[in-house]
Amino acid sequence: MILIVDDKQENLLSLQSLLTLHSYAVDTATGGEEALKKVLKNNYALVILDVQMPGMDGFEVAETISGHSKMRDVPIIFLSAVNLDKKFITRGYNSGAIDYITKPVDPDVFLLKVNTLYKLYDQKRQLNQMQTSLRSEIEFRRHAQQESYEKAMELRFVLESIPQIAFTTRPNGTVEYHNSQWMDYSSYTERFPETHPDDPDLEPEMKRIVNGDKAVELEVRIKKLTGTDFRYHLLRIVPVTENKSIIKWVGTFTDIEEQKQVQRKKDEFLSVASHELKTPLTSIKGYVQLLERSIDAKSQSHMFIDRALTQVTKLDRLIVDLLDISRIENGKMLLNKEPFSFGEMLSSTIEMARQTYPNYQFHQDGAAAVEVNGDVIRLEQVLVNFLSNAVKYSPNVREIHVISRMLPGNRLLLQVKDSGIGIAEVDQKLIFEKFYRTDESTRNFQGLGLGLYICADILSRHQCEYGVESNEGSGSVFYFIIPFTKTL
Ligand code: ADP
Repeated sequence: MILIVDDKQENLLSLQSLLTLHSYAVDTATGGEEALKKVLKNNYALVILDVQMPGMDGFEVAETISGHSKMRDVPIIFLSAVNLDKKFITRGYNSGAIDYITKPVDPDVFLLKVNTLYKLYDQKRQLNQMQTSLRSEIEFRRHAQQESYEKAMELRFVLESIPQIAFTTRPNGTVEYHNSQWMDYSSYTERFPETHPDDPDLEPEMKRIVNGDKAVELEVRIKKLTGTDFRYHLLRIVPVTENKSIIKWVGTFTDIEEQKQVQRKKDEFLSVASHELKTPLTSIKGYVQLLERSIDAKSQSHMFIDRALTQVTKLDRLIVDLLDISRIENGKMLLNKEPFSFGEMLSSTIEMARQTYPNYQFHQDGAAAVEVNGDVIRLEQVLVNFLSNAVKYSPNVREIHVISRMLPGNRLLLQVKDSGIGIAEVDQKLIFEKFYRTDESTRNFQGLGLGLYICADILSRHQCEYGVESNEGSGSVFYFIIPFTKTL
């Protein structure tokens, strides 16, 4: 909008109509004071100011406007009929005018000037806006930079104060920072601590880890530069993301040598204990079986001996599991792999289950007529485990389905499906771990939590995928996918 200031109504009107005719929005004031009030209140692109006015003259108005921060940038054109003298013109420019027009006004020249100044004002305003937004952008970035610097310092402070070896890497896995503990194990920032000859090298391991996007845990043995003994450490590496992309990785090495030793001692104890228990138990079982055969099948004593035999069998299975665990732990569970008919093994195992659990119904769906190269006894052990779990954890609905399906790539899917208590999602990932049992099974069912751990070991050594699908309260499907050599 343009403000015209003149004490004479006729001048105001003629200029106003000229500008309005050319589509300018126009406001008017008849004196210096009124003009100042309006300039303070509104935003004008241009002020056209008559020099000679009663009261506050044009020069004073212009001086006040140019001295005021809000109005400083508004261009002013002076209009004067009389003050043609050079010194008046100079005063006009000094008081903040941009141009000086003498009356009578030539409308074409006047419009040209107004147009140019109007455009100039507009460009200046846009420039100002741009400058303001650039300034706030710069300020924002500076702030963000400061914030991320502070965060990095905070992280370093935390990493420095913990007893573990700690480090951060760039997204490509090269070390960016490490705490002082690092230097006890490596002489260089870029070099990861040397690992035991039987453990993986950390440089290639790190490259592999940063190719993924998940946190990783790894047990490795490393030793101090000044020491001779390698100690077990848990290396834990976690990605740090910003806007969904990884900006760095944070890692720690925690000394777990003592836990490892306790675990080793416990494993040794289990191994010795189960070996020592196995021999006398085998002879107890033999004698009880002899006794059972020598006593009248209908007598009460026979019933007692039968019960004793059931308990001895349970104990025997438990000890066999414990022995398997110590074999797995010591890498001594040897597999005797040779080609066998999977279908035959499956049918005979199901038949055995029918006899062992006469109150349950076992439905076989699929013949699994394939030849597998594997340890038939160990794979049967997996099936027996899946089946006996299906029985144990389905006290109410006594129907169990064993389903086998061919998959592309010469693979066979085997599922054992029950309608029992099911397994909560949080437990599903954990039940294949050693000694893991769900709260519900700990409360209501006997067991040690070893069977699935042994199954997992056997299956992974047969290159099988395995797992469980379940909904708590409505049954479970335990499955594995095994490669086969040919169909039969
Ligand atoms: P155990 O049965 O001796 O506890 P397992 O290793 O065979 O040991 O099983 C581990 C845990 O997995 C069990 O304690 C139980 O919580 C859960 N589980 C296994 N099979 C089933 C199943 N069919 N239905 C529900 N829970 C199961």
